[in-house]
Order: sequence, then structure tokens, then C-alpha cells
Amino acid sequence: MISFLDLKKINEPYETAFQEKLKSVLENGWYILGKETAVFESNFSSYCGTKYGIGAGNGFDALVLIFKGYIELGKLKKGDEVIVPANTYIASILAISQADLIPVLVEPRLETYNINPDLIESKITSRTKAILAVHLYGQLAEMNAIHKIANQNNLLVIEDAAQAHGAVLAESRKPKAESKKSGNLSNAAAFSFYPGKNLGALGDGGAITTNDAELAKVLFSLRNYGSEKKYHNEFIGVNSRLDELQAAFLNLKLPNLDNENQKRREAAKRYLTEIKNDKIIVPFWDLSENHVFHLFVIRTENRDQLQQYLLENGVQTMVHYPIPPHQQKAFSEWNTLSFPITEKIHNEVLSLPMSPVLTNDEVSFVVEILNQY
Ligand SMILES: *Cc1c(COP(=O)(O)O)cnc(C)c1O
Repeated sequence: MISFLDLKKINEPYETAFQEKLKSVLENGWYILGKETAVFESNFSSYCGTKYGIGAGNGFDALVLIFKGYIELGKLKKGDEVIVPANTYIASILAISQADLIPVLVEPRLETYNINPDLIESKITSRTKAILAVHLYGQLAEMNAIHKIANQNNLLVIEDAAQAHGAVLAESRKPKAESKKSGNLSNAAAFSFYPGKNLGALGDGGAITTNDAELAKVLFSLRNYGSEKKYHNEFIGVNSRLDELQAAFLNLKLPNLDNENQKRREAAKRYLTEIKNDKIIVPFWDLSENHVFHLFVIRTENRDQLQQYLLENGVQTMVHYPIPPHQQKAFSEWNTLSFPITEKIHNEVLSLPMSPVLTNDEVSFVVEILNQY
């Protein structure tokens, strides 16, 4: 059986280094907000090209903290509307609600699965204050178009970069141009280090990147009970900290992220060129953009049937995601709304095995089984 994602295999090369780090953290006797976290915050923000990096407990909290930070700074207020793709992992939308803001859903492009900038403007009202751009499956949202709309309407732009660690914007890949990565394409960005993400910890973890000094200052405090100085609370904060052990593991994995993303792209390139079956639509990839293929998501009309066929032939797949957010029970007020493109995507998508440890033989096998379908 070719597994969808073999986390054990992904982390195996780091085993000795992890054990040494565990030993050193044990010997230090300091487990929360210490040296490893500070080093990771600095390493990760340098990697993304931003001035500041702020560790958080997970990706969801990282998003909520950004919104709460802007509320503290008076740039957002309760009840403000935030534009968000209708086609996203529900965490993006829940984070907006969690910060007492109102999510306003916008349809994606069928080809890219990402928000369609052409449809944003008609959803903007006097209460709209921000756009949450999601780089779904590892492919950057159309940031230039999004920024144009945001500038014209005086909106903040925030990235949900939980699936796109290391993705580089095309224009910035010209020689000598400053490399602009996900995390550095907006006012502030949220990352998740959930084990299955492109940069994954051995538990929960998250971070925020930003160039906004004021926001960073508030966030360093907000994530730690709103307190910068022990027992002095400036804000109504939360407890959401990246712990020393996870930060230490992430410090070991970060130097290899670009290499791992390249391996994902190589597998993706083979899927894209070798899958030849009229029943299967492979994902759009503008080769100039460096998609980091968190997931390789195909579409097909009888998705469940294809998934069953693949399973019977030894290929494990997943569906990201089976139920659109607006049809979830949790958002019952949206259940009668219609987002046909989002619904079509949720009915048709299937995620093929994708990871930096997927072998050439495994890719060949998946392709062969798919082409025989
Ligand atoms: C994983 C993910 C999150 C949430 O991250 P957690 O660390 O699981 O809280 C948010 N948005 C997207 C798009 C994600 O894929």
C-alpha cells in the first residue's frame, strides 16, 4: 500500500538530531519561551524575509492572534467584515469568527482552487476591513490582484500560509530581485507546524510573520496572557506559545525545507506530465510560480468511485475537503447559501500521495494505476 503521507519516514532522517536536542532541552530545564523559541522566531522570520516572527501554539491561534492584535491596535473592531475564500479549510473561517469578526465568503477559481479576485469587489461593504488570502494546497493566492483591491478599498491583507511554507512569488524570482516568500506578501501571515504541513513539528505549533513593528509588539504579549513583563497584563491575552521542544525540532528541520519542497515539486511534475486519463483533471500549475504542493489535488466526476478503485489497487488517498464550510452544521446560518464552484470542488477533489519522501517508483505506480482507470 502506498500511504497518503508517511510522517514516520519524513521525520526519520532527523531522529538522531531530535534525540540530541531533547537531551539538551532536558539539560537546560527550560521548556516554555526560552532560547530555542527565540532562535526559531528569528530563523523563520529570516527565512520568510520578514522583520518579525512570533511563535504561537498552532496555526489557528496564529490567525486569531493576528485579528486580535489588529483589534488591540484599533485597526479592526468587533463586527468588521473579513473577505475569505469559500473554498478553504474551515480553520481560516473559524479564526475570523473567533476574533468576533464576520467572515464574508467569496468563490474560488475552479482551476486554481484559490479565491477569485474578480469576485471580491462585489462583496465589499462599508464594514469590510480585511482580506484573508489562503494559499490553498501550497499554491499562492493571486496576491497582486488582491493587493490592488485592498489598496483601493483601504483593507488589510492577511495570509493564511498554513499550507505554503516557502512558496515564492513569481515576480520576485527575477535575478537580484528581493525574494518574496509566503509570509512576506501581506500585513501579517499565519503558519501552522501541524505534523503533516510542509514544515511540521512533532505536535502542535504555529507562528506569525510580519514587518509591522507595532503589531509584533502586541502579538509577543497577546500570545502570553497579554503580558510582556511577568504579572503585568496589558491586554486581554491568551495562552498560545510555541514550546521549546517543538521550536528545537523545527530549528533542525527548517534548513531542509526548500530541499523538501523541491522533492514535492519533482513528484508533482511527474504526476502532471504522466497522468493521462480523460476522467481526471490535474491541478493547474503556472510553472513560473513555485507551488510547494502541500497537497496534489486532482478532480474527477465520480470521486468516491475513483478513491475506492485506488484503494483496491494499493493507493491511499484523502479528500481535502469533503464538506464545504458553508454547508457545515457549525455555520447553519449559511446552509441555504449557494457557492456552486466551491461545492463542485468539494464534490470532485481527491488528494494523491504527496510528500518529500515519495519515491520515483511510488509515483510511477500511482500514475500507472490512474492511467488504467
Ligand atoms: C492547518 C491549517 C490551519 C490551522 O493550523 P493548525 O495548526 O492545525 O491549528 C489553518 N488554515 C489552513 C489552510 C490549514 O491548512
